Amino acid sequence: MKTVIVGAGISGLTIAEGILSNDVKQEIVVIERENSPGGLARTFHKDGFDFDIGPHRFHTFNKDVDAYLQNILADCFVQISRKSSVHMAGKYRSWPLTMASVMGLPFPVIWKSFLDLFNKPDIKEIKSFSDFIRSRYGNNLYDFFFSGYTRKFTGISAEELHVDWAQAGVNRAVIDKRVKADSLGSLVKGILLPKPVETKFYYPSHGGIQTFCDKQCERIQAAGGKILLNTSVKELSVVNNTVNGIVLENGEIIKADKVYWSAPITVLYPECDLKFINTLIANVALKSEVPQNDYQWCYFGHSDLIFSRLTIPRHFRADCVPSGRDSVIAEITCNSETDFWKDPEIIRERLIHDLTSVGAIKEEDILFIDWQRIPETYPVYTLNYKDQLASIKLPEGLTLTGRSGSFWYNNMDHSIDQALSIVKGSKFKKDFWNER
Ligand SMILES: Cc1cc2nc3c(=O)[nH]c(=O)nc-3n(C[C@H](O)[C@H](O)[C@H](O)COP(=O)(O)OP(=O)(O)OC[C@H]3O[C@@H](n4cnc5c(N)ncnc54)[C@H](O)[C@@H]3O)c2cc1C
Repeated sequence: MKTVIVGAGISGLTIAEGILSNDVKQEIVVIERENSPGGLARTFHKDGFDFDIGPHRFHTFNKDVDAYLQNILADCFVQISRKSSVHMAGKYRSWPLTMASVMGLPFPVIWKSFLDLFNKPDIKEIKSFSDFIRSRYGNNLYDFFFSGYTRKFTGISAEELHVDWAQAGVNRAVIDKRVKADSLGSLVKGILLPKPVETKFYYPSHGGIQTFCDKQCERIQAAGGKILLNTSVKELSVVNNTVNGIVLENGEIIKADKVYWSAPITVLYPECDLKFINTLIANVALKSEVPQNDYQWCYFGHSDLIFSRLTIPRHFRADCVPSGRDSVIAEITCNSETDFWKDPEIIRERLIHDLTSVGAIKEEDILFIDWQRIPETYPVYTLNYKDQLASIKLPEGLTLTGRSGSFWYNNMDHSIDQALSIVKGSKFKKDFWNER
């Protein structure tokens, strides 16, 4: 039995590691386009600085996933309390919102949101992101934050986005389901009658988030599995509607009885109108610490600012930067046609201006800016994405998996959960693919 796994992200590696730890007789080949494993959970290293692809922290309430994380990381992890932030009306405010952070908002914003408590928009059928947010949080918060942030982030309007985008996005921002923030009423209750929840997450105790995937690779190779880096898969090899291998970009065919596909689904089915957005990452290394910001990551909704989120690696682990130094990671989402995707240097000055304007850096402190272009970071749930997915007919022997392969706006723990179910042959509790 020969199995090919396309993509050495968390999903593909968890499947490979899982199969090999059960049955060493299987021949496993993992094929990865990039020069290192990790996929979206990769880490870039430069001059003693570690830069993950934006903030990456492990958080799960699932016991199996938790046990798997601890098993792979062994003792090599630290537990950190979450400290995130949102930049609104020119100031940093703690997120989830607190009384102190809300009271600093302009009075009209507070007053109109208060009125929205009693004046919910009557939306009969919740179809779009806009419907969902306005019905849950009211028109005012929608106009004040969500609408602009979403357009900046996805490049399309909130009316054109499917309601699933809102549900997944809110869950991702809240992270901890003990925090009640799923409506304007629960937001207000959480502010007036706070029950602080300390959300802890895991982070590797050395290197960046990629340490997890590096450790998976060590196990896979020790068990006889092969990992081919710098190798891009072009398509499947299919006979009589059954997969019998994959075709590499250079034309070479690798035969396989079974293929697990965690690379973007759009590589296999380009004719579908499914869209991912890309993220241009600016890894900014600084000579000295930026003292005023204590968040790990912060969201920026204002359309004048080029980035949508900033991360401070030092607040994940102090030694992500050399002693006395600091760094900031800026995420700028875009599509492949955007001019700065092709040439990031054209926005260098604007980036420095925007970072300075929010007090994230001082220009004279910059040591270097390392640009990383990360394609296909977020599947975009347009209004018709479910129809597009439903039109795809999978051949026998192919399993789609993970964030990119399943077209799933998920987190690392979800990719692990799904991969563990695949390995066990059990039905995935949230069978994302078949639910559509
Ligand atoms: C900015 C950002 C921040 C995030 N923060 C968090 C967080 O804090 N916590 C969390 O849990 N999750 C977070 N996530 C989500 C998390 O990164 C993903 O859920 C997870 O890494 C997905 O893993 P995967 O293996 O399913 O997919 P991917 O990581 O996308 O793996 C797919 C792999 O396929 C490879 N590939 C692509 N095309 C080809 C080809 N043609 N041939 C061969 N290989 C190919 C890719 O290079 C990649 O390695 C974040 C994501 C982003 C973008």
